[in-house]
Amino acid sequence: MNDTDLKHIRQQFPILDQQVNGNPLVYFDNAATTQKPQQVIDSLTNYYTKLNSNIHRGVHYLSQLATNAYEESREAVRHLINAKHAHEIIFTRGTTESINLVASSFSKKFLHPGDTVVISGMEHHSNIVPWQIACEGHQAQLKVIPINEQGEIIFSEVEKLLDQSCKILAVTHVSNTLGTINDIKQLINMAHAHEIPVLIDGAQAISHIKVDVQALDCDFYCFSGHKMYAPMGVGVLYGKEKILDEMPPYQGGGEMIKTVTFTRTTFNELPFKFEAGTPSVGDVLGLKEAINFIEQTGYGLIEAYESDLLHYGTKKLEQLGYIRIIGTAPQKTSVISFLPGNIHPFDAGTILDKLGIAVRTGHHCTQPLMDFYKISGTVRASFAIYNTKEEIDAMIAALERIKIMFE
Ligand code: PMP
Repeated sequence: MNDTDLKHIRQQFPILDQQVNGNPLVYFDNAATTQKPQQVIDSLTNYYTKLNSNIHRGVHYLSQLATNAYEESREAVRHLINAKHAHEIIFTRGTTESINLVASSFSKKFLHPGDTVVISGMEHHSNIVPWQIACEGHQAQLKVIPINEQGEIIFSEVEKLLDQSCKILAVTHVSNTLGTINDIKQLINMAHAHEIPVLIDGAQAISHIKVDVQALDCDFYCFSGHKMYAPMGVGVLYGKEKILDEMPPYQGGGEMIKTVTFTRTTFNELPFKFEAGTPSVGDVLGLKEAINFIEQTGYGLIEAYESDLLHYGTKKLEQLGYIRIIGTAPQKTSVISFLPGNIHPFDAGTILDKLGIAVRTGHHCTQPLMDFYKISGTVRASFAIYNTKEEIDAMIAALERIKIMFE
């Protein structure tokens, strides 16, 4: 990407243009949440200025406009991930809710005593705890695919876990802590050979990698709007029509019903069966603008530029001589977790913040992964399309100073 294009992208993110503790803000906490481009911010303002009303239920003008806009967002998501039908797109509050929906509803129908659920050793707590709860509720067992020191799934171990007891495989597309991009196509093929459905946690993939759910043939794909330049408060569950149709509702309430009497309720069709209550309409509309931003920028450019930042940042950190990088798989998104020598990640993060550099420190909601590496946490720098090599240089200079301070 040339300087003019980069400047153009950065100009679309007004939050970046500010000082933090007297230094230009360097925002490297994109794996936690990305910043929002002006078109997303404008869409929120426009919604609350001109469109706000409840959807699907109103015959009046505003309600119809909002309903149409809401359904256009669903179509935009369908197009983004190439789902076959728009009704396979369920709006949720985020990845966490999407996974909880499946863990709860799928398990009610398909998980029985003695069955197993298989996840991997690098999952976010959001793709561990809902399955633990489901397993406990149905006397099933959670099994874990081991990973290697580089932070990759050990494929030779996968087959052993995909036996008759396994009712679902739930794995992350990209690790939020390591940046590892898993070969989910291979995992899906392996699971499908045993007729085991697969859920993919796409929270860390969707803003970096072009996803095609039909080509992948995954049964579920989950992601959050706020990690892909959209507002907080909206997420997506993609599910294949057939399997969603077989699953019972997750929550009961308005919108998800066809008829209600005090003795019996019949449920609405997809996607409404899984969208009980009033959704976050303004945020859903903002998601469409975020998709527009990604599509205008192009996944090709995003992948190439972020990979450039990843390699530049990794090389510079290695050159410092005292950094240990956690997560060294060859296939990675622009996430670098590291240990700054003997300096506690929290101390390093706090000083970086004093210098205007926002990184995340801690276990990143992956405590079992921290246990695997026998560490309590890392410093994590995660880059987005608006970050620059100059910002990486600023972090490297800060880490040089930090090392001297702690010597
Ligand atoms: N899975 C992964 C891999 C994540 O990185 C995150 C967010 N850190 C989640 C799930 C949960 O996403 P949310 O908090 O948006 O529901």
